[in-house]
Amino acid sequence: VAVTTSGRSEIVIVGGGLAGSAAAAVLAGQGRDVLLLERDTEFTDQAKGEWLAPWGVAEAQRVGVIDFLLAAGGWEIRTLVNWDGVIDPADALTQDMTEFTPGVGGPLGFALHQVCTMLATQAGFAGAQVVMGARKTTVVPGPEPVVRYEADGRAHEVRARLVLGAGGITRPVGRQVGVGVTTSVHHWGGALAVEGLTDWPADVQAYGTDGDVMFIVAPQGYGRVRLYLNFAFETRRRFQGPDGVRQFLDAFDLRCLPYGKQIAASTPAGPMRIGPAIAGVLDGSPVAEGVVLIGDEAGFNDVILGTGLANALRDVRIVTELLAENRDWGPATFQPYCDERRTRMARLHHGARIICQLNAEFGPAAVARRRRAIALMTQNRMLRVFALLSIVAPEDVPEFGFSEFIIDRLLPTSTGPGGAS
Ligand SMILES: Cc1cc2nc3c(=O)[nH]c(=O)nc-3n(C[C@H](O)[C@H](O)[C@H](O)COP(=O)(O)OP(=O)(O)OC[C@H]3O[C@@H](n4cnc5c(N)ncnc54)[C@H](O)[C@@H]3O)c2cc1C
Repeated sequence: VAVTTSGRSEIVIVGGGLAGSAAAAVLAGQGRDVLLLERDTEFTDQAKGEWLAPWGVAEAQRVGVIDFLLAAGGWEIRTLVNWDGVIDPADALTQDMTEFTPGVGGPLGFALHQVCTMLATQAGFAGAQVVMGARKTTVVPGPEPVVRYEADGRAHEVRARLVLGAGGITRPVGRQVGVGVTTSVHHWGGALAVEGLTDWPADVQAYGTDGDVMFIVAPQGYGRVRLYLNFAFETRRRFQGPDGVRQFLDAFDLRCLPYGKQIAASTPAGPMRIGPAIAGVLDGSPVAEGVVLIGDEAGFNDVILGTGLANALRDVRIVTELLAENRDWGPATFQPYCDERRTRMARLHHGARIICQLNAEFGPAAVARRRRAIALMTQNRMLRVFALLSIVAPEDVPEFGFSEFIIDRLLPTSTGPGGAS
C-alpha cells in the first residue's frame, strides 16, 4: 500500500497494553502530542495478567492511573494462603499482604482489557490520536525516528521526537531496533477467568502445588476469580482439545485446596490461554536512538511472580518523569531508567527462579524438597524473604533475600537459581 498520509507526532507509542495505554493517558494528560498505535481493533480478554502487586498499585497511584484500575473493577485482595499437597490445609502458611506498602492495601485484581480500553479512551479525550487496528508497524530509529503503519486500508508515515515501544512479549519494536532478548522456559502455564464462585473467600488469594500442577487462585469480586496453573513441559499438551477447559477446571479439584470442587464446577468467563512461561532478559539496553522500550518489550519475568503489570507501571512512571524533567530526549537522558530496570529485573528473575524450583517442579524429589522447605519456612518465616518480591518493590526486599544462604537452605539439591536440580 503506497503511503497516503505523512505527518508528525511528538511521541508515538506502539502497543496499547497496560504499558502503552497508561503512557498514552499520562503523556496526553501532560499536553504532549501523542499517537497511540494498537494492533488489535479492540481490547479483549487475552487471559494474561490481571493481578497487580501492591508495589504496582503504589506505582499506579504515583503516575495517576489508579482510578482506571478501580473503575475496571479493581478488587483488593488481602490474604495469601499457601495450600499445598505436602501439608494439612489447616497448617497452611498465610500472609497478610496489606501491611507492606505505605498508602496501599493489598494487591488488586481487575479486568485488564477494560483498564486498557479506559486508558486509551482517556488518552483520546486528552488529545492523543488513538489508532486501533494499526498493522504492519515499522520503526526506523534515529534522532528523528520514523514510524510507518497501515490502518483503514491506507499507509501512514509519521516522524516523531520519540517512539515508546510497548508491544509486549513479541517485542515488535525491540526486534526492529536491534535490541535482543535471551529467553528461557522453566515450565508451562495457563490462565482462565471463571464466575459463579461465590463460596471462595473474596479477599483470599491462594497458591500451592499438588501432584503435577501448581495453582494460583486470585479473586476479582462478586464470584469472579482468575485461575492460573503451572505444569511441567512434558505435560504441556494436557489441556489441548475440545475438553481442555473442562480438564483445566478439573485440575483444581485437589485434596489440599478448599473449594477445589466448587472451582471445578465454576463457569468459564473468558478464553483460556495455555503456553510456555517465558522469562526474557534483554541482551542490551531498552533504549536506542529515538526509541525507549517499556513494559514487556523491555524484558519480562516468568509470570509465576505476577509482576509484569507492576513493571509496566513503574516503567511508565520513570520514563514519563524523565520526559517531563529533561528537554534533551537523547539516549543518555534515559540512563537512570536503564540502570534501575536492570537491577530491578535481576532481583525479580532471581526470586522467580526460586519460586519456580520450589513450586513448579514435580515428582518425588521435588515433593521432598518442598516438604522440607515449607517446614523450614514454617519454623523461620524470615526464610520466605524472597516471596516478598510479589508484594513489595524489588529494591525494598532485604539483601538477605538474594543471598546464596537462602538458596542453600531452601534448595539444597539445586545448583542455584536457574541451575539443575
Ligand atoms: C498467563 C499469564 C498470566 C500473567 N499473570 C500476571 C499477573 O497475575 N500479574 C502481572 O503483573 N503480570 C502477569 N502477567 C504478565 C502481564 O500480563 C504482562 O507483563 C503485561 O501484560 C505486560 O504489559 P505490556 O503493556 O508491556 O504488554 P501487553 O499487555 O502484551 O500489551 C502489548 C500490546 O501491544 C499490542 N501490539 C503487539 N504488537 C503490536 C504491533 N506490531 N503494533 C501495534 N501494537 C502491537 C498488543 O496487541 C497489545 O495490546 C501474566 C502473563 C501471562 C501470559
